[in-house]
Amino acid sequence: MIYFGDLRPKRGVVHIEVDRCKGCGFCVEYCPRDVLVMSDEFNAKGYHPPKVKDIDNCCYCQLCEAICPEFALFVTLAEEEAEVEDRTS
Ligand code: SF4
Ligand code: SF4
Repeated sequence: MIYFGDLRPKRGVVHIEVDRCKGCGFCVEYCPRDVLVMSDEFNAKGYHPPKVKDIDNCCYCQLCEAICPEFALFVTLAEEEAEVEDRTS
């Protein structure tokens, strides 16, 4: 029998540093899973930052993180977040 390891799809958690954003929309446009949408809110610089629309769709590809010119967002693995919560609760 061939063992393929753990093939469960990865899930990400998106963390947005709202006030670093300059509202270019790259992260929204290029996310392959339509996880993000531009917010109607303004940040401290007067731009519309992204917000999470559907986190369950995030596959932890990290494209949004790589493409953001302002380093305004990063993605962590949902299962690692859960482990940290378990340790701290
Ligand atoms: S990690 Fe990938 S799927 Fe998740 S929000 Fe970023 S670009 Fe979209
Ligand atoms: S790519 Fe970065 S700067 Fe552009 S809208 Fe997204 S978070 Fe803001």
